[in-house]
Amino acid sequence: SRAPVTVIGLGAMGSALARAFLAAGHPTTVWNRSPDKADDLVGQGAVRAATVADAMSAGNLIVICVLDYRAMREIIDSTGHSPADRVIVNLTSGTPGDARATAAWAQEQGMEYIDGAIMATPSMIGSEETLIFYGGPQEVYDAHADTLRSIAGAGTYLGEEPGLPSLYDVALLGLMWTTWAGFMHSAALLASEKVPAAAFLPYAQAWFEYVISPEVPNLATQVDTGAYPDNDSTLGMQTVAIEHLVEASRTQGVDPTLPEFLHARAEQAIRRGHAGDGFGAVFEVLRAPAAQ
Ligand code: NDP
Repeated sequence: SRAPVTVIGLGAMGSALARAFLAAGHPTTVWNRSPDKADDLVGQGAVRAATVADAMSAGNLIVICVLDYRAMREIIDSTGHSPADRVIVNLTSGTPGDARATAAWAQEQGMEYIDGAIMATPSMIGSEETLIFYGGPQEVYDAHADTLRSIAGAGTYLGEEPGLPSLYDVALLGLMWTTWAGFMHSAALLASEKVPAAAFLPYAQAWFEYVISPEVPNLATQVDTGAYPDNDSTLGMQTVAIEHLVEASRTQGVDPTLPEFLHARAEQAIRRGHAGDGFGAVFEVLRAPAAQ
């Protein structure tokens, strides 16, 4: 028989988590501030706990997913004193600092703590490909890894540091937003001459495939070795090209902030002696802006 699980927080995500545990055959106890959100889950076999304390007593694995870390702490604190041997798996999104502070708080309360970051939307919960990052004590994660596979088949343990899941989360989020923003800036430039994005798309996609993506492993090596070879395209030369992008953005009446930012960082790297290196040298500026 499968291990019992408690799910606290039945918003869009918490409900999906509870459904996946039920579908995998885990006896599942649920609690939500607005109790009616448990109605459907009870119909599917979940047990509705009347209080947080009851929910925390149902089993030792407590999965919590609410709006933010403050709400999460308020909910657990409302019980006064939690039962011994509880393991909190906190899947609420936040920052690495939130996660570290909450791990320290959980330790004071005598609870084991695993922090997690969900890299999926609610409809993706319960599938083999779904990724959740986890961090915290290895033996605690190992003890519950099988149960947690019911919500995310590709769940991945990153190590003991509880801030790592949130750090990977925001790092992937940043990659997505900055890449999409780059595409949107290019689309805005073309739109200034009434070129539809669809006309530009084939070139953008080929550019991603043959130029942008293949270079990323090289950049990763450069970051890890601290050496930024120019490959016949120095930062000094590329910075002049970025000036054209800034100038073109201004004259086309498009927001120039994005290329201005890139130009400023490249110039900082040049001032630090990286003119003869490759683009990768901007890493030195981004990771240590105070040293300018
Ligand atoms: P919802 O807005 O659907 O649900 C929010 C939940 O938090 C509800 O259960 C709500 O209770 C509860 N809540 C909020 N404030 C309090 C409080 N002060 N005390 C008690 N309970 C509170 O959000 P989601 O379920 O979508 O998101 C939950 C977490 O999952 C967030 O951290 C989000 O970033 C993360 N996440 C969500 C994704 C998504 O696509 N939805 C993707 C990846 C992560 P009530 O019903 O009573 O209002």
